[in-house]
Amino acid sequence: MSIDDLNVSTAVIRPGDSDWESARRFHSGIGEPAAIIRAMSVDDVRGALRYAAAERLEVMIRGGGHSAWGGVPGGLTLDISALDDIAVDGTRVRVGGGAQWGAVAHTLAAHGLGLSSGDTASVGVGGLTLGGGIGWMVRAWGLASDQLVGAELVTANGEVVEVSDTSHPELMWALRGGGGNFGVVTRFDFEAHHLPGVVVGVYGIEGDAGPTLRVLRDVLAAAPRELTVTYMDVPPMDPSAPAGASITAVWAGDDETAARAALAALAAAPGVSEREFGPQDYPDVLMEAPEFDPEHPMPGFVGGNTLLPALDDDAIERLVAFRTQNPASVVLLRSLGGAFGDVAQDATPFPARDATWFAMAGAFDVPGMLDDDARAAAVQAWADIEAKGSGVYGNFIASADPSVAARMYPPATMARLAAVKRQWDPGNIFCRNHNVQP
Ligand SMILES: Cc1cc2nc3c(=O)[nH]c(=O)nc-3n(C[C@H](O)[C@H](O)[C@H](O)COP(=O)(O)OP(=O)(O)OC[C@H]3O[C@@H](n4cnc5c(N)ncnc54)[C@H](O)[C@@H]3O)c2cc1C
Repeated sequence: MSIDDLNVSTAVIRPGDSDWESARRFHSGIGEPAAIIRAMSVDDVRGALRYAAAERLEVMIRGGGHSAWGGVPGGLTLDISALDDIAVDGTRVRVGGGAQWGAVAHTLAAHGLGLSSGDTASVGVGGLTLGGGIGWMVRAWGLASDQLVGAELVTANGEVVEVSDTSHPELMWALRGGGGNFGVVTRFDFEAHHLPGVVVGVYGIEGDAGPTLRVLRDVLAAAPRELTVTYMDVPPMDPSAPAGASITAVWAGDDETAARAALAALAAAPGVSEREFGPQDYPDVLMEAPEFDPEHPMPGFVGGNTLLPALDDDAIERLVAFRTQNPASVVLLRSLGGAFGDVAQDATPFPARDATWFAMAGAFDVPGMLDDDARAAAVQAWADIEAKGSGVYGNFIASADPSVAARMYPPATMARLAAVKRQWDPGNIFCRNHNVQP
């Protein structure tokens, strides 16, 4: 098919073209698609889908480019990162389907507003929101997808539809956690919240983290929902955070006294030292993702994630032991509950609204660091932790394995998603995602 037949403002980029090398890079690697189209408009998206249909290419939608699907060979990469307009009208925010969260946070801050996103500026609004989105205000305002009130979507057959709770409500339901299975979202509509600023506390932990995590759990059980925390224990090899165990706490709002009171028991716990405490602008809290280095790609890891209804003493012990037994490993905990738990389970496809903590652990699978016995032990140790959970969060599974979706959605949710998929993408053109089969 020739570009003239597409009626688009942009070129089809193929291997050998001058911008091929830059176009095929994504956050964590270098892709090998059959072709790339960088859409500049909704019409370009429609043209690209016509091209994919004519050439019988699977479509990989690329927004922020942070997922693992950029690495799956073949297919058409539909790069929508240029669709990044952000328009604020009162508390209603309209965000282009390819925008990044850092830009959204900066635009909203100028209006005294905020949305809960993730922890990283360059992550895409599209992938994070459609999969759920656990961020710094998850206890105050819920998931990123809980703030979504509408969308403009280009369907598999090129139709442009407005989606909301009153216009195609089942499709709206599916967009709040069902991933990029149903079409290309060219505009997200969010309802933002007043946010004068945030208060941030960072605490280092010396010695056994177990007792501190028990204090942290009890602090969060009693804390106002303005408080959200992340616990991380990372080895020196991980470029994403300072080595060792630490807790970062973010208070949604500028009330330093209330934030300090909520964190008092944690700050006073043995082995805990306050590294920083004070007000910040929310956009400054979002991190920059480490640059991808083709010479030193991030290794895979053995482990996983789970949504825990309770962070009981046994779960704490097992997570701490996972980290101790695997010198090159990461353990992460993020607090949930609050507004996240206010949403009824069947109101969105996101699993486990009963969860009060999100847990993730992984031992880096580096040759020479993880022998067969250690790998088997890590697999079993993680399985024992995951057994305590009531769901798995797909956005943190950097794998294109087709079996992942069945682990993410309970059978009734999957059946409901499949019904929506049959209506809007019966040919499964949008299959490069945690795929819902039509
Ligand atoms: C450094 C880093 C930090 C992260 N931090 C967090 C965090 O704090 N909280 C959290 O919840 N997650 C986090 N994640 C996970 C993140 O939510 C997922 O990787 C997500 O898929 C990234 O979205 P993206 O748009 O950047 O990626 P992309 O690779 O561009 O998109 C991923 C998938 O989303 C779908 N998609 C994207 N945009 C659209 C659209 N407009 N229309 C339809 N489908 C679309 C497609 O199926 C696509 O394959 C993080 C990931 C990384 C790498």
